[in-house]
Amino acid sequence: MSEELHIDGSEGEGGGQILRTSFALAAHLGRPLRVSKIRAGRPKPGLRRQHLTCVRAVAELCDGTLHGDEIDSSEVFFEPGTVKSGEYHFSVGTAGSACLVFQTVLWPLLFAEGDSRVVFEGGTHNPFAPPFDFIERAFLPIIKRMGAKVSLSLERAGFMPAGGGRFVAEIEGGCTLRPTDLCEAKPIVSRRATALVANLPGTIAIRELREVRNLLHWKNEECLPRVTQDDGGPGNVLLLEVAREDVSEIASVIGIRSLPAEDVAAIGAKAINKYLSDNVPVGACLADQLVVPFALAGGGSYTTTAPSEHTTTNIDVVGRFCAIEITQTVQGNATTMSFASL
Ligand code: ATP
Repeated sequence: MSEELHIDGSEGEGGGQILRTSFALAAHLGRPLRVSKIRAGRPKPGLRRQHLTCVRAVAELCDGTLHGDEIDSSEVFFEPGTVKSGEYHFSVGTAGSACLVFQTVLWPLLFAEGDSRVVFEGGTHNPFAPPFDFIERAFLPIIKRMGAKVSLSLERAGFMPAGGGRFVAEIEGGCTLRPTDLCEAKPIVSRRATALVANLPGTIAIRELREVRNLLHWKNEECLPRVTQDDGGPGNVLLLEVAREDVSEIASVIGIRSLPAEDVAAIGAKAINKYLSDNVPVGACLADQLVVPFALAGGGSYTTTAPSEHTTTNIDVVGRFCAIEITQTVQGNATTMSFASL
């Protein structure tokens, strides 16, 4: 077993991503790990339910030893075993993001021998986390192009505060990720606005989409209400999606009681207009989420806007585990990240 790696969770962005990236890579690479000062940059630091689910899930995948895995804990120690593919079920137990749990266990399972089927439960459309649709249609197509064989199916959306969302991932193991390049903002080939309304009046979707058409001049057939009544809790998300030939961006706004539907649409329109005027292929959130797969592929490049603190922090964390050089080339408002194995 190699030497223990110590990651200071207060560095850079100081959030949960430091922990998730560290655990995913520690399990994949068989590296003992200690993460201290967990989420020290957040108002309520330490392990919340979502982070606890992530670290326990990774430990379960590989029969690892875990210490400090309690709510509010600020330090965890992890000694990984061998990652085993198979059937798993990870439930956050609250409305915490199940999508972030998926993004954590994905890496170890993708490279393990054999295939896995994993059920995830919790929030699927959370503020400050990638919504299910973003994972499915922005993040996954890129890693599939790099060679990953993964499919997702949403059974039920889950929103704050009730949670209760559920989706299933089929992950083929034994993957070799190939480098890819996403440096050109190719033409937009399709646009789609989806107003998802669960267990709430469908008029919310109608108002949001009417305002999207007003503000963005998208056509009727590009604006789709998705109104569901199921046994989950109430919730609403507006998803504004633009697809280029090789990459998509999805701006999302979670509807909340105090925010009129028209304001939800205005926030989403502003975000997608910013992406379009930046004229880069990779949006800011996707940019931080691609650091791990590009590092594991040992090459490739992508162009985004000025990297967020999430991105620079993820680069620092990945650099502690992988022998990778990541060069940033700035041209105007665009930054190209180039990955090369050392
Ligand atoms: P905390 O910030 O409380 O520690 P956290 O564990 O949820 O929370 P972060 O470190 O903030 O984690 O990471 C959040 C992740 O969610 C980042 O990868 C970020 O790109 C992604 N994300 C946030 N908002 C969106 C969004 N609207 N669309 C896509 N991805 C998003």
